[in-house]
Amino acid sequence: MNNKKIALTTVFFAIAFGFFTYFVKCSNSSSAFYNLSNLNNKKNLVPVLIIGSGPAGNAASLYTARIGYDTIVLKGDLPGGQLTQTSYIENWPGEKKILGNTLMNNLEAQATSFGVKFISDKAVKADLAVWPFKVELSDGTVLNALTIIIATGATPKILKIPGEQEYWGKGVTTCAICDARFYQGRDVVVIGGGDSAAEEAIQLSAYANSIEILVRKDKMRASKAMLDHLAKIPNIKISYNKEVKKIKGDNKHVNAIEIYDNKTKTTQEKSIEGVFLAIGHEPNTTIFKGQIDLDSNGYIVLRDRSQTTSMLGVAAAGDNSDNKYRQAGVAAGDGIKAALDIASFLASIGVDFDFAKKLKPDQYDPSKKTNIEIESIKNKFQFDVMKNKNKVVIADFYGTFCPPCKAMLPVFEQLSAQFVDKIKFVKVNTEENDDLVMEYRVSRIPCFVVLKDGKEVERKYGLMDKTKMANWLETFLK
Ligand code: NDP
Repeated sequence: MNNKKIALTTVFFAIAFGFFTYFVKCSNSSSAFYNLSNLNNKKNLVPVLIIGSGPAGNAASLYTARIGYDTIVLKGDLPGGQLTQTSYIENWPGEKKILGNTLMNNLEAQATSFGVKFISDKAVKADLAVWPFKVELSDGTVLNALTIIIATGATPKILKIPGEQEYWGKGVTTCAICDARFYQGRDVVVIGGGDSAAEEAIQLSAYANSIEILVRKDKMRASKAMLDHLAKIPNIKISYNKEVKKIKGDNKHVNAIEIYDNKTKTTQEKSIEGVFLAIGHEPNTTIFKGQIDLDSNGYIVLRDRSQTTSMLGVAAAGDNSDNKYRQAGVAAGDGIKAALDIASFLASIGVDFDFAKKLKPDQYDPSKKTNIEIESIKNKFQFDVMKNKNKVVIADFYGTFCPPCKAMLPVFEQLSAQFVDKIKFVKVNTEENDDLVMEYRVSRIPCFVVLKDGKEVERKYGLMDKTKMANWLETFLK
C-alpha cells in the first residue's frame, strides 16, 4: 500500500463513522441526491473543487490532495489572496518575517508538489441544486464538482461617494503595494482606521511626500504594534473624526478631496494627488446567494464546530465565513478543517481512493487550456517600432509585485491566443520602462492601453474577466 492509499484509508475509516451519524440524521433523500450513478457519462468531473487561492484555499488543497483526492484550485481575481497585497508578514507561525507574495508562492508550490492543479480563472456561476454541482468559469467552461470548498475571501469595500468611480485608477486605488511607487514625492491620503490603513500608509511612506490617514472615529482600531510603527514614521499624520465626502480632479487625475469633520461639523477642501482606500471588506459569496445559508452581511453560515455549510458536500473556509478573526493563519486552519470535512463527505458517499481513480478519464484537465507567450517590451524604441507596425495593439502595463497584474497575465495570454493575427499583445514592465510610464501617464496598474494606428484610443485599469475583456477588444476590430 503506498502512502497516499494508507492516508486515504485512514481518513476513510476514521471520519466515515463520525460523519455517518450526521449523514443519517440529515435525511434519507441525501443518498438519492448524491447518487454515484449521476457521475456516469459526465465530463469535466472534479473530485474536489476549491474556489479561491488564499491561505484557506491553498491549505485545503494541500490536505485533500495528500489524502488522495484530485484537487483543482480556481485562483480567482486575486491569486494568493489578500496576503499578496501586504508586504511583510510577521505573524505566520514558523516564519519570523516573510513577504506575503513569497508565503503564498511557497504554499502554492507545496500544494503543487502533491498534485494540486491551479487554474487562472474564476467561478462566475454555481448550481448547487444538482449533483455533481455545476460551476461555470469565466471562459464558459462548466465543471462538474463532486465537492466544493468555497475559499473566496473578501473584497475591499469602496466609499460610494462622488468622484470615486470617475477617478478610479486616476488617483483612487485600494492597492498601495501595487501603486505606491507612482506617488513619489506626492501628497496622499489613506482612508480607514484598521490594520490595512496602517499597512497602506507604511507602504506609501517610502515614496510619498506626505500621508494623512483619515479616520472617521476618534481612534484607530489597528493593532498596537501597527500604531507604534506608524508613530515612528515622520511623513505620516493621523487625523480623527474625518469623513471624505467628495473626490475631485481635473478630469485626468485626482487633485483634491472634500473632508467633513464630524466633530466640528465643518467641511474643508484638501489638495492631494492620491486617495488610498482601506475601509474593510465584503465577503465574496454572491454566486452562492440563495443556495447556501448566508448571514445578513453575506458571510457563509457554518454548521456546528465544522467548516460544513447548509449544503452537504460544500464547505467554506477563510474570510468569507469569518467576520471576527480574519487572520491568514486562521483561514489556513479553516482550510484544513474544510478539507477534512470534504474528505469525510466523499468517503461517506462511497468515493474512496479506488472509486476516485475510476473517474480519472472523465476528469477535467486544465492543461488543455491554451496560453501563448507575449512579447515583452524592453525599451521605448522597441515599443514605438511595434506600435507603428501593428494596426491594433494592447499593452499591459504591469508590475512584478502587483497581485492583480499577476492575476491578469494568464487572462491576457489566453486572449492573445484568441485574437492572434488581429490584435498585437505586448506587456510593459513598469519597473523597467519609466519613459513609457511617463509618456502614457500610467498611475495605476495593471493598466491596459489600446492603440490604433499608433495612437492611444482607450484604456482600462484593474481586474477584468476574460469575457469582459474579449468583448472590449472586439470593439476595436470594427
Ligand atoms: P477593518 O474592518 O479592520 O477596518 C476598516 C476600517 O475602515 C475601520 O477603521 C472602519 O472604521 C473604516 N471604515 C469602514 N467604512 C468606512 C467608511 N465608509 N468611511 C471611512 N472609514 C470607514 O479592515 P482592515 O482591512 O483594516 O482589516 C481586516 C482584518 O485584516 C483585520 O482583522 C486586520 O487585523 C487584518 N489585517 C492584518 C494585517 C497584518 O497583520 N499585517 C494587515 C491588514 C489587515 P470604524 O472603525 O469606524 O468602523
